[in-house]
Amino acid sequence: MPDFPKPGINFYDITTLLKDKAGFGETIDALRNHYQSTPVDIVVGIEARGYFFAPAIALALNAGFVPVRKPKKLPHAVCRVEYELEYGSDCLEMHADAIQPGQNVVIIDDVLATGGTAAAVAKLVEMSQGNVRGLGFVIELTFLKGRHKLAGRDVFSLIQY
Ligand code: AMP
Repeated sequence: MPDFPKPGINFYDITTLLKDKAGFGETIDALRNHYQSTPVDIVVGIEARGYFFAPAIALALNAGFVPVRKPKKLPHAVCRVEYELEYGSDCLEMHADAIQPGQNVVIIDDVLATGGTAAAVAKLVEMSQGNVRGLGFVIELTFLKGRHKLAGRDVFSLIQY
């Protein structure tokens, strides 16, 4: 979707994929298959569009689901991470006891763009001493080189632009 949410941004909308039962099913299957031989205790979803995919992948992998949320949404003690945006900074939170030390974690979001969000969430998981086993995305915008911020990690995407 050109010029959304502001002029100059080409927004990759996944709502048309979600409503297609074959396409949605294939998306979940493909991500599940990538992690089939990886030990996974917890699938972390990033607010908001990561929530469309992460719980379904968690169920398919027989794992739990943990939401990473925008600030002040979670009711219990949280760990928090701040990260740089193009202009300014942003912040994400996760319940401090959501991940136990040594648990194996896969992080899911809809789009990998600059990688700042995903790198911040990986840090959040590691603050809880979780093992980040992989980061999975439906779409990767390769020209933004998000992988560079995730060097040394297993980064998997289904579609690259
Ligand atoms: P980034 O931290 O730059 O990798 O941005 C990733 C986050 O922003 C993800 O949660 C995406 O949902 C969203 N995002 C960034 N750029 C786009 C885009 N062009 N189209 C759709 N979502 C995007």
